[in-house]
Amino acid sequence: MADYLITGGTGYVPDDGQTGAQLFANGDGMTYNDFLILPGFIDFPADEVDLTSALTKKISLRAPLVSSPMDTVTESQMAIGMALCGGVGVIHHNCTPEFQANEVRKVKKYEQGFILDPVVMSPKHTVRDVNEAKKHFGFSGIPITANGHMGEKLVGLVTQRDIDFLTQEEFGVPLSDVMTKYEDLVVAHSGVTLKDANGILQKSKKGKLPIVNDDGELVALIARTDTKKNREFPLASKDEKKQLIVGAAISTHEEDKKRLELLQQAGVDFLVLDSSQGNSTYQINMIKYIKKTYPELQIIGGNVVTAAQAKNLIDAGVDGLRVGMGSGSICITQEVMAVGRPQGTAVYKVAEYARRFGVPVIADGGISSVGHVIKALALGASTVMMGSMLAGTSEAPGEYFFADGVRLKKYRGMGSLDAMEKHRSSQSRYFSESDKIKVAQGVSGSIVDKGSINKFVPYLIAGIQHGCQDIGARSLSNLRSMMYSGELKFERRTPSAQVEGGVHNLHKRGYTEEDSRGYKKDNSIRNCVQQAALLPYYMYT
Ligand code: IMP
Repeated sequence: MADYLITGGTGYVPDDGQTGAQLFANGDGMTYNDFLILPGFIDFPADEVDLTSALTKKISLRAPLVSSPMDTVTESQMAIGMALCGGVGVIHHNCTPEFQANEVRKVKKYEQGFILDPVVMSPKHTVRDVNEAKKHFGFSGIPITANGHMGEKLVGLVTQRDIDFLTQEEFGVPLSDVMTKYEDLVVAHSGVTLKDANGILQKSKKGKLPIVNDDGELVALIARTDTKKNREFPLASKDEKKQLIVGAAISTHEEDKKRLELLQQAGVDFLVLDSSQGNSTYQINMIKYIKKTYPELQIIGGNVVTAAQAKNLIDAGVDGLRVGMGSGSICITQEVMAVGRPQGTAVYKVAEYARRFGVPVIADGGISSVGHVIKALALGASTVMMGSMLAGTSEAPGEYFFADGVRLKKYRGMGSLDAMEKHRSSQSRYFSESDKIKVAQGVSGSIVDKGSINKFVPYLIAGIQHGCQDIGARSLSNLRSMMYSGELKFERRTPSAQVEGGVHNLHKRGYTEEDSRGYKKDNSIRNCVQQAALLPYYMYT
């Protein structure tokens, strides 16, 4: 019988589950929650699973994780953190072209241990300003330059010791009166290696080491606390010059050709054309323009959710596709515009088409657990793009705040009124120039503190490896070929199966539980269920 397979040894095993093609054959739109993957055979350890995957035709990553170009998710700090851990960040464009290009430059110039944009003050700043900075940023070793900017002559350094015994009345004293003057400082000269700089710090027993150029101008700072934290990043995403890889988003508007030029000069590796519906003459023209003007730049087109949309962008020459419409956690596109597609179906359909042309697919939006990442990859995506998953980390832009004792960070859709008010380029993803009335396609809210990317991304990586191990896939390319050969089996989940698969039947968890840093955690049942797959991570932070 066709549905019985011979496995050898004990005989016949009935064929079980559905192939990817069968799962999506009946025409229903499916989300990640609507199905599960059936387990396979394990004959290798989880940490041997190779997660190398293509981001674009020419860029490959050791971890299939991308941070979204949103102004509450990705600026330079996030992009650096993601690239060090093996993923990559895409700098948002809800800002001036100059600001965005500078963020790209910071990533490209990043050298581990060297702080290239430290807080700097002038001799006219006061002790009060230093105290404020300490409250805000949690440190107090501040270099003093002529006018309080990087790149100017270093005139001194203020540390906690210089101001420790000052009384409240003395907080108005200018820093010129309390700082350690340049001639008494230990400094290093640009070109110093991190190893030598660490040696100088250790010998001098200082907490901060300013790096100056031949003209005595401040170019970087090294902090003792950072050097202690320094560790190896074996998965780091680097270009052939050993600089971190970074992307940037632009719109398809004519005026963004100037932005593009600045980004290219800053060293950006790839561009994301940021449109919620990417199948347009505007995008096709922009792809052709970029390919002609900057052939070395990789282009990710989108967003698309159908093979027909993908075809036009592939024909125009994209090197990768961003898939998702209406699946984002802050997205109301499907409600407002009546257009979009459930994300499981969108990823499967586009990836299945695009693979024939060697174009990798990014599953963008709707990822709220490690399980969703594994499902997206199993449906044919090469990488996943995340907003809400990364928004509460310390590397995301914005300050933490407290609500009901829980530490939160703001997270908002780029099509929310809030984001569109900040800078008009946010509007370009959702509106054309001629739109007179703006209809919001996103909302804003907040996300619970998730600690640092440096811990969170390794947790995601380990989770994906464990998922692949359960499936019996030794690598992501193995996972995809298992899916397309029909060896990988799926099964639909009824609504009650979904309830069964989540946290259930528990007595209410304590709301006041604190983590190791003394911050309260949102342990309400609602949040636990939403974040169920993240619970092991929360327990360890
Ligand atoms: P999340 O990871 O589920 O939070 O979704 C993030 C994704 O949502 C982004 O990468 C964008 O594709 C999409 N997105 C961002 N802002 C908006 C918006 O305002 N409306 C609709 N989708 C958005």
